[in-house]
Amino acid sequence: MGTTIFAEMSALALATGSVNLGQGFPDTDGPAEIAEAAAAAILEGRGNQYPPGPGIPELRHAVSAHQKRFYGLEVDPDTEVLVTAGATEGIAAALLALLEPGDEAIAFEPYYDSYAACVAMAGGTRVPVTLRPPGFRPDLDALRAAITPRARLILLNSPHNPTGAVFSREELTEIAAVACEHDLLVVSDEVYEHLVFEGEHVPVASLPGMRERTVTISSAAKTFSFTGWKIGWVTGTPELVAAVRTVKQFLTYVTGGPFQYAVAQALALPDAYFASLSAGLRGKRDLLCAGLAEAGFEVYRPAGTYFVTTDIRPLGESDGMEFCAALPARAGVVAIPSAVFYDDVAAGSSQVRFAFCKKEQVLREALTRLAALARA
Ligand code: PMP
Ligand code: GLN
Repeated sequence: MGTTIFAEMSALALATGSVNLGQGFPDTDGPAEIAEAAAAAILEGRGNQYPPGPGIPELRHAVSAHQKRFYGLEVDPDTEVLVTAGATEGIAAALLALLEPGDEAIAFEPYYDSYAACVAMAGGTRVPVTLRPPGFRPDLDALRAAITPRARLILLNSPHNPTGAVFSREELTEIAAVACEHDLLVVSDEVYEHLVFEGEHVPVASLPGMRERTVTISSAAKTFSFTGWKIGWVTGTPELVAAVRTVKQFLTYVTGGPFQYAVAQALALPDAYFASLSAGLRGKRDLLCAGLAEAGFEVYRPAGTYFVTTDIRPLGESDGMEFCAALPARAGVVAIPSAVFYDDVAAGSSQVRFAFCKKEQVLREALTRLAALARA
């Protein structure tokens, strides 16, 4: 312990000279005009001192306009938006605000590593509902069966890390109906909202009955390829946002003043920007999926995100942890064993996640190296 699996695997990639398809960060920065906007804000003295607690008005208005433009959602920039230190802080603050000790948070596993940690920090109990290959579709019966009188919220993530599943409108509508029936809150992590290759991203807050019970979280990291800037945002009713803000103010107080100006500008980029982002990643997904299949992996083709989940059993392997630990030496590639995302470790023991948010030549190099595995 002490470092996350992602940091650990990135360090391993560096130490071994491996191609890093582990941690999900793009190896190409976002738009130069947005980087220039951040530099200009610093040089012009905008945001260099503590910005307002809820975030600068420009960014709160831009988030509100984004929700309206892409999803038809009305969000009051003054009372229904909170700027956070990435989605990571939004998730932490929301869970700390909404969970009382002993409350249960239901989440579809495999899940992103911070969920379990934040539920634990809030004194809550996580209740996993397993998504299974090949489709990793949400099992509504299993969801219903997981609900006890201690259930407080459902922690949703679509598009989903690590599987790349994008929940359909029908699936989300059913999940929403369960939330309404049992009077549960929903914390919806939508950081991959613009990285959808098939289907559509449906914000759960846009579904009937959900606006008043959903805390929606997103960030600039994936949408604008600036994962180091750590600008995120939370939207929801004034009551929910106030609860999250009450916690957030003692986590970081405020964050990234100059970057907030740049992200406000980024959110207003033309539709062509968003379309080319997902089109570029779709091509990389196709390249990596085809190459991994050729190298002998079973490939669960993702509809969104940065990631593809594979199964290593066709290669004569069964333990993803061992496989990923040995992969740098065997092939000079780093990947993430999906077991780390499961409570039910057996359910994901032979799954391995690869990131495709990398330059085409980097993906090709990784595939050349991996092609040797099946022959070895
Ligand atoms: N949620 C998910 C599902 C993620 O994959 C990530 C990671 N990048 C985050 C949240 C964290 O986002 P941020 O970098 O904005 O804190
Ligand atoms: N979200 C990224 C991933 O899943 C990593 C972010 C992090 O390292 N915390 O790989």
